[in-house]
Amino acid sequence: MKAELKDIVSKSILTPGVGQLDDFTHSLNPYAGCTFACSYCYVRQLPISLYRDEEWGTWVDIKTNAADLLRQELSKARRKGPVTIFMASSTDPYQPLEHETKLTRSLLEVMLELPPDFLHVQTRSPLVKRDIDLLKQFGDHVRVSMTIETDKEDIRKAFAPTAPPIPARMQALREIKEAGITTQASLSPLLPCSKEFPQKLRPIADRVTIDDFWMGDGSGGKRTERLGISDIYKRTGMEKWYNPSAYKVVLKMMQEQIGDEVEVMLSKDGFTPIPEKREAGIGENLTFF
Ligand code: SF4
Repeated sequence: MKAELKDIVSKSILTPGVGQLDDFTHSLNPYAGCTFACSYCYVRQLPISLYRDEEWGTWVDIKTNAADLLRQELSKARRKGPVTIFMASSTDPYQPLEHETKLTRSLLEVMLELPPDFLHVQTRSPLVKRDIDLLKQFGDHVRVSMTIETDKEDIRKAFAPTAPPIPARMQALREIKEAGITTQASLSPLLPCSKEFPQKLRPIADRVTIDDFWMGDGSGGKRTERLGISDIYKRTGMEKWYNPSAYKVVLKMMQEQIGDEVEVMLSKDGFTPIPEKREAGIGENLTFF
C-alpha cells in the first residue's frame, strides 16, 4: 500500500514524559504516523489517529525541522536538570522512509552535541543498525530496545504483516550488542511464541522486557479490545494466549532459562532509564506448550 507522506513544520519536538513514560523527562517522535501499521498499535486509538480521515499506517508526517527544534529544546531542558529521552513513543523512528530522510539520524547527531543523561531507542526495524557508529558514542547512556513480540514468523505475519521479519530484527540486535551497545528485546506486546524463544534471545539481549495488552496499552486492555485483536487470536487458533495471565508463562520460562545471564523485566519497569528492581512474581499453572 502506498503511504501518504507529508513534510510538516512542527511547533515542538520534545514532549514531557507522562503515563507509562513518566520515568522519562521527555519522549521524542521524529515522525507522526507509522507505515508498519501493526494491527494492535495503541496509537490507532489516540486522537492523532482517530481525528484523521486516513487509516493508521497509510500516512506519515515528516517533521522536517525536528533537528533544529531539538537543538533549541534540548539545550533549554538540560539547563533545568537531568534529561532522559524515550525515542519513539508513537511512531517507529526507523520505519522505511528513514532510509531516505535520515531524520532520526540527524536527531542522534544533535544528541551527541548536547547529550541527554539517557536515551532509550525503541524500534522494530533492522535499519537501526545503520546508526551503530553514532549510537556507540553515547556509551552507557543509551539502550537500543528492539521489539520482538514473538519468535514465530507466522504469528508476526498474522498480527503485523507489514512490520519487519523477526529474524532480521534478531540479527540487527545481535550486531548492535556485538558493537558494545546495551540491548533490550521488548516482548511488547507479548504474542504467542515457542519454548525456544529464551535461548534465541540469550546471545542478543542484555535485557528482556515483557509487556502485554493488559499492562501496557494504557487502558487495562480496553483499547486492544476495541481494535478487535481477539479475532486474530481466534483465526490463528491461539485463543488461550489472549489472556492477562499468559505473560506469566513466558516470564517464568525466561527467568528459568536465561535469568542467570539476561535481566528479565516486566512492563513499565523494563522501560525506565534506571529501573528499580521489583519482584516480577511468577506463578499460575498455565501450560501453553
Ligand atoms: S511500529 Fe509501533 S508505532 Fe508503528 S504501527 Fe507498529 S506499534 Fe504502532
